[in-house]
Amino acid sequence: LAKENDRNNCQFYSPDLNARNLERLQMELRLRQALENQEFVLFFQPQIDARSGQLIGAETLIRWQDPLHGLIPPGRFIPLAEETGLIQAIGDWVLTAACEHQARWERLGLPPLTLAVNLSARQFRQPNFVEHLIDTADRSGIDPARLELELTESMLMKDIPQTTGKLQQLKARGFRMSVDDFGTGFSSLNYLRHFPLDVLKIDQSFVRELFEDEAALAIIDSIIALARALGMRTVAEGVETAPQRQILQSHGCDTLQGYLIAKPLPEAEFLAWRQSYQPASRNKGPDSE
Ligand code: C2E
Ligand code: MG
Ligand code: MG
Ligand code: MG
Repeated sequence: LAKENDRNNCQFYSPDLNARNLERLQMELRLRQALENQEFVLFFQPQIDARSGQLIGAETLIRWQDPLHGLIPPGRFIPLAEETGLIQAIGDWVLTAACEHQARWERLGLPPLTLAVNLSARQFRQPNFVEHLIDTADRSGIDPARLELELTESMLMKDIPQTTGKLQQLKARGFRMSVDDFGTGFSSLNYLRHFPLDVLKIDQSFVRELFEDEAALAIIDSIIALARALGMRTVAEGVETAPQRQILQSHGCDTLQGYLIAKPLPEAEFLAWRQSYQPASRNKGPDSE
């Protein structure tokens, strides 16, 4: 059967499924066009040192500026991009754009920041991922130590020999690596201790439940203890309130990220935010939210 017929037949006996397939297909086409038309943008969310309040880095978060539907968050297109393989090209774009931003800010003479970049499983599994990344970083002229690659537990644990090889190559080149959404996956602590990782990012679900569920704080404490024992730092995600900040600081979390500090911002707003940002001292709450 030709594709056209196939779809028409589907509609006949399974209208729901067909409608979903059509929507997917349209979305895939729109995603391809979005790449061609450069409709993706990077937003930047500040990360501050928990003790000093100093800005130390930012996480880059992709958005799709769709001329028809406005700003679309990654949760609405990354999964499909993963399924269709388009994530390869999108991931390349993200890495190149992150390096270019970093290089531009350096040229502007701004104090150096670490830029964290989310990787997708499929991107990381590419046989030439490491070479490609090195090439991208080289071309932009940035210091690899200013790039922090965010991996998830499932990415790390999927193919241990391959993961180990890639992490070691990346480490040797000076890149930094973190585990995103830590505590939600199934990490083998034994492997974790052999991987050359720099940061554990405490998943925002634990931060959200800090005052509602005693277990959440216990988990946060364990992650902080584990990170210290393995010579890694911790970043708390999703910090939204001053009391959350307070408790994370006093429990020894190294870095804070969340709406309390700032939402993810487009470049111009991020640079303006940077200019006016005043680190709040340890014992004072921030002036505003
Ligand atoms: P993530 O890497 O865990 O990113 C954190 C998410 O939490 C972001 O959502 C961010 O906007 C949101 N967030 C930050 N602070 C707060 C807060 O205080 N409260 C709450 N409720 N949320 C907060 P976003 O930007 O929608 O991204 C969602 C996910 O999409 C990311 O989760 C990441 O897994 C993925 N993603 C984003 N950008 C990229 C990318 O360039 N490549 C790939 N492969 N995935 C990406
Ligand atoms: Mg992330
Ligand atoms: Mg996360
Ligand atoms: Mg996430």
